[in-house]
Amino acid sequence: MKKHIALVPGDGIGPDIVAEAVKVLDVVGKKFGHTFTYDTYLAGGCAIDATGKPLSEETLAGCSKSDSVLLGAVGGPKWDKVASDLRPEKALLGLRGGMGLFCNLRPAILYKQLADACPLKNEIVGEGLDIMVVRELTGGIYFGERGRDGDKAYDTMSYTTAEIERIVRKGFEIAQKRKKRLTSVDKANILNSSQLWREIVEHLASEYPDVAVNHLYVDNAAMQLVRNPRQFDVIVTENMFGDILSDEASQITGSIGMLPSASLRGDSFGMYEPIHGSAPDIAGMDIANPIATILSVAMMLRYSFSMESEAAAIEDSVSKVLDAGYRTADIYTESMKKVGTKEMGDLIAQAL
Ligand code: NAD
Repeated sequence: MKKHIALVPGDGIGPDIVAEAVKVLDVVGKKFGHTFTYDTYLAGGCAIDATGKPLSEETLAGCSKSDSVLLGAVGGPKWDKVASDLRPEKALLGLRGGMGLFCNLRPAILYKQLADACPLKNEIVGEGLDIMVVRELTGGIYFGERGRDGDKAYDTMSYTTAEIERIVRKGFEIAQKRKKRLTSVDKANILNSSQLWREIVEHLASEYPDVAVNHLYVDNAAMQLVRNPRQFDVIVTENMFGDILSDEASQITGSIGMLPSASLRGDSFGMYEPIHGSAPDIAGMDIANPIATILSVAMMLRYSFSMESEAAAIEDSVSKVLDAGYRTADIYTESMKKVGTKEMGDLIAQAL
């Protein structure tokens, strides 16, 4: 299969970690007989320096016509003082909005090899965690009518049936490919938009009889994530609840350098990126952990290119390298073998 990928390394450690993910993709291509080609685009602070704005038409057009996008991270102290509409992070919103990416997938996986990094007790996490948060990305309170009138300010949470239906369907479809359990999170005891959300989940459930569905109020879901996280397989929820719960879920795994994410729309196109930022404090030092970006590529193969065996091969290689005791500085513990960004990329590529 031939696939053309837009690379958007961005700022800070972005170029370091994207280079390692490309290294791994090229080995997957050779091993499984695929051809991956690439074009590289500017976004974020580096784009401000080169073009005066964080996201150019050229970058958006180039990404839009590719088969999928791999993003590093954007931002850094150099651009902290630019006008708010020119901030590097605007590039992320511009790319997600410009390409209609309404579905954000945030897996929270605790590898058994890294169980010590988890802030929860051993008896709570057991053999490890594997939760997928499916977050609505382009609606809800972040995009609703808002305003300020003297000493009063307001934000509006509103959803249409169509907006809810398309994200809830994604939740069901992803649950079908996993342990077939879907938890829908809302605040239906108070919010009208949540009541509509819950009605739609119940209505769609009959189309996915193989998936067991339950509902949780968002406050209870936040509590259950630390009390009994193993009850969760797939969580589907609206934009703001998903923003908060996906960060909570990722924190209980304890290692920000390990977690990938995907932003999808109705077709196979997607944008894939690690959940962490540009880590300017360690940029260019060959110490950043490239695994979140390498696992983002595994998600790309699974969700955009339907290459399940190839995706699993990357995930297995990561697991093997961890089993062999190799660690970057952020996940290093005593008696392990400390390696840099490039060496970690090499080890995962070799394990393939
Ligand atoms: P950050 O995630 O960049 O860093 C937080 C801490 O985690 C730092 O100590 C960093 O060194 C460490 N870290 C992050 N990724 C790591 C990795 N792969 N390996 C090893 N250590 C890693 O968050 P921050 O410091 O709050 O933000 C830095 C910049 O990144 C800011 O400009 C922020 O706006 C931007 N940011 C961008 C994104 C994105 O592009 N998606 C997301 C979050 C923050």
